[in-house]
Amino acid sequence: MCEVTVLKNGYAILKDGWMHANCTCTVVRSPENTVIFDTMTPWDGPFIQSKLKEIGVTHIDYVISSHGHSDHTGNNNLFIENVKQHIVGFCISNKDQYYAHPFEHDEEYKLDEWMKIVPTPGHTSEDITLVVKTKAGGTTAIAGDLFECEDDLTDSTLWIANSFNPEKQASNRLKILSMVDSIIPGHGAQFNVLPEHIEAAQTIVDKYGLEQNKVN
Ligand SMILES: [Zn+2]
Repeated sequence: MCEVTVLKNGYAILKDGWMHANCTCTVVRSPENTVIFDTMTPWDGPFIQSKLKEIGVTHIDYVISSHGHSDHTGNNNLFIENVKQHIVGFCISNKDQYYAHPFEHDEEYKLDEWMKIVPTPGHTSEDITLVVKTKAGGTTAIAGDLFECEDDLTDSTLWIANSFNPEKQASNRLKILSMVDSIIPGHGAQFNVLPEHIEAAQTIVDKYGLEQNKVN
């Protein structure tokens, strides 16, 4: 079972005409592997290192970025010593070696018995979500910008405005909501999945389905 530690809750705030944003940064420890998920902006290296020290993490096995945006990849190169793989969106590598995995055919990628990566594009063309079995006995999705924050379930403008493919993102949001007990979103605090979250996500998927039917 995994221990999940959020190093920092992400945020996205419009202020003085600028978007101020940073991602949620999470560490997951399974019996076999330690993962850091989304490494904030390049200016956050000292913060991440001091937090890791505080929680007693001295080695990282997998560096995972939910997608390639700069607030999710900023400190990946702090973790190159004996790391197993860097996984940035659909791209899996170690040094100059690249491993082809058919994420684009919706295939999951298993890290160990307790952690798997699920392809969940929509925010960009290559987003991924880490699904873990937790010590508490449930499952948690560390989802990057598939979800901005809990509020985006009731206010869809919060995620649709930043979406590369809203229809695909809507169906992947529903898929993950139906799969897990709680979600750590890309720019907000962890929340438990409630029936009304699933209903809200289903409504948007249905709306896209109706539009599709009209076109046909
Ligand atoms: Zn983001």
